[in-house]
Amino acid sequence: MKITKILTSILHIPEDDPLADMPEETGRMRPVVTLRIQTDAGIEGVGLTFYGGAMTGSLRTAVDELGALTIDEDPLRIEAIVRKLRAAAGDNCGPAGIFLLALSAIDIALWDIKAKAVELPLWKLLGGARDRVPTYASGSLRRGLTDNQAATAARRLVDKGFVEMKTQMALPGNPSPAEEVRRVRVVRDAIGPDIKLMCDINQRWRPEQAIDIGKRVEDVGLFWLEDVTVCDDYQGLARINAALSTPIAGGEYVWGIVPFRHMIEARSVDIVMIDLVRVGGITQWLKVAGMAEAFNLPVVSHVIPEFHLHLIAAIPNGLTVEYMPWMIKLFQETPPIEQGHLVLPNTPGLGLTFDEAALKSFRVA
Ligand SMILES: [Mg+2]
Repeated sequence: MKITKILTSILHIPEDDPLADMPEETGRMRPVVTLRIQTDAGIEGVGLTFYGGAMTGSLRTAVDELGALTIDEDPLRIEAIVRKLRAAAGDNCGPAGIFLLALSAIDIALWDIKAKAVELPLWKLLGGARDRVPTYASGSLRRGLTDNQAATAARRLVDKGFVEMKTQMALPGNPSPAEEVRRVRVVRDAIGPDIKLMCDINQRWRPEQAIDIGKRVEDVGLFWLEDVTVCDDYQGLARINAALSTPIAGGEYVWGIVPFRHMIEARSVDIVMIDLVRVGGITQWLKVAGMAEAFNLPVVSHVIPEFHLHLIAAIPNGLTVEYMPWMIKLFQETPPIEQGHLVLPNTPGLGLTFDEAALKSFRVA
């Protein structure tokens, strides 16, 4: 099989809150680069990438430029293609940033092709540990909401059947530790004691703040505290992790596979969160998951659940899938949620087909 054509586009997708209809702000748009890789066998792979922000045009160009180097290559030889692309650009312009974001889109589409070629859903091709995986509602209980809005949104998620959900601390305006604690209790009181509640800090605390506030909320029974300080302060994270009984999660902000080695060796986190786009695609995601397994650590995913559910389901140490449906409108169909679990598709590949009308309505370039 040979790669024959690369098709990319830039979309602007509204940043709404489809889960609880309680957006922190209205009118914001998220830029996304979509990719299709076509082959002489008639099999097409889909991928996407984002985080380009104001450089999204450059990111699309990077996907086009790397994609051009894959023409006539065998799409089933993914590591050979990754090696070629690194040699052509990544080894010199840097192992992270736009290079890695672009590489991820290509790698994802290549795995979609490979799974379609062997007529298996991707999760089965990659290991197939489970055919349904727990999932949690994310993106609704944000720090910018009022207490009333947060409580209302939390109850809406429970009414929708979610049994796991994530909120945030590190509130706007740098309030006192007591205010931070009060807010997370508002959410806990709204949902009761039996719902798993995670809380994201998004790197906004210093280590001593994290230890102070983390100790004050231990009786809230958080399932995890996430990105409690700067993502690559591995020693600071380890200090926080040792001081708190609440599990510490992290990893979404680091690039490629090597930082995970440092993070895990330093015992910085109890739960390894891997972002498919920042890690370098499916090939690299699986390597980090294996590293975590060797250290007896569970793995969770970051955003794009319609891609990540395959990976969490494939591995033995997958814990839960973040259900943050940024991209849900792009596809004709996405996996259903039943009793708090995402149900894995049985269609070959990722099981994702772009909705042409949606793509047209969001396309800007
Ligand atoms: Mg996070």
